[in-house]
Amino acid sequence: MAKIFCVANQKGGVGKTTTTVNLAAGLAKLNQRVLLVDLDPQGNATMGAGINKAGLAASTYEVMLGESDVATARLRSEAGRFDVLPSNRELAGAEVEMVVLDNRERRLKLALAAVDQDYDFILIDCPPALSMLTLNGLCAAHGVIIPMQCEYYALEGLSDLVNTIKKVHANLNQDLKIIGLLRVMFDPRMTLSQQVSAQLEQHFGDKVFKTIIPRNVRLAEAPSYGMPGVTFDPSSKGAQAYIAFGAEMVERIKKM
Ligand code: ATP
Ligand code: MG
Repeated sequence: MAKIFCVANQKGGVGKTTTTVNLAAGLAKLNQRVLLVDLDPQGNATMGAGINKAGLAASTYEVMLGESDVATARLRSEAGRFDVLPSNRELAGAEVEMVVLDNRERRLKLALAAVDQDYDFILIDCPPALSMLTLNGLCAAHGVIIPMQCEYYALEGLSDLVNTIKKVHANLNQDLKIIGLLRVMFDPRMTLSQQVSAQLEQHFGDKVFKTIIPRNVRLAEAPSYGMPGVTFDPSSKGAQAYIAFGAEMVERIKKM
C-alpha cells in the first residue's frame, strides 16, 4: 500500500512544488514507485515534471469531480521516472463545484484508493491556501511535509497550518500526522538562516528533517527545461540534497 504525503504550506513561494517534484524524482532514483498529484490549479508541478498542462485529456479536475479516474488521467514523467496526475487552471473551478457533492473533503482520498497498489509513495503538491483542495489533500494523506524558508517570518502562519492539521486529524482523518518541517532555500552564509534553523530544531525536535535543502540556482532553472532538478543536474548541491531527502523519507516510512 502506498504511503501518501501532502506537501503543504499556505504561504506562497516557499518551495512546495520544487520539493514535491524533486522528492518524487529522488525517490524514483531510489527505485520507489511514485505518483505525484498536482493539486494546484497553477499546474507548476505538472510543468516541472515535463508535462504540458495545456490540452490535458483528463486531469485532477475531472478526477475530483468523478468524471475520470486516476488510472485514466495519470501521465508519465519520462524526465523524472514517476507518474503524474496533472492539473491546470480548470482545477480552480473544482473548488466551487465540489461544494454540492457528497464527501466533498474525501474526493481525492476515494480516487487514490483505486491506485494504491501501484505505488510506494503518493506525493501531493498543495496550492498556497487552506482551501477545499488542500483539505482534500490533508484528508487523503498519512502525513504532511512542510517546507519552510529559514527567515524571520518563517514561523508566522505556521500555527494556522498546524491548527488546521490538528482539526483534520480530530474530525476527518485520524491517520494524519506532521511528518516533518523541511528547511529549504537555505543559505548557510546568513546568520539569520542559522538562527531560525536552530530555533526550529529547538521547538520541533525530531519533527525537523535532518536533510537541509540549500538555495541552488540549478533547482530554479530546471523547470524551464521541463525537468526535475534531480535529473537536470544530478551532481548539483540541490539535486544531491533532494536525493538525500528521499533516502530520509524511505527510512521514515519504515517506522510508520
Ligand atoms: P506556490 O505557493 O506558488 O505554489 P511553492 O511553494 O510551490 O509556490 P516553488 O514554486 O517550489 O514554491 O518555489 C518558488 C520559487 O523559488 C521558484 O522560482 C523556485 O524555482 C525557487 N526555488 C525553490 N526552491 C529553491 C532552492 N532550493 N533554491 C533556489 N530556488 C528555489
Ligand atoms: Mg507550488
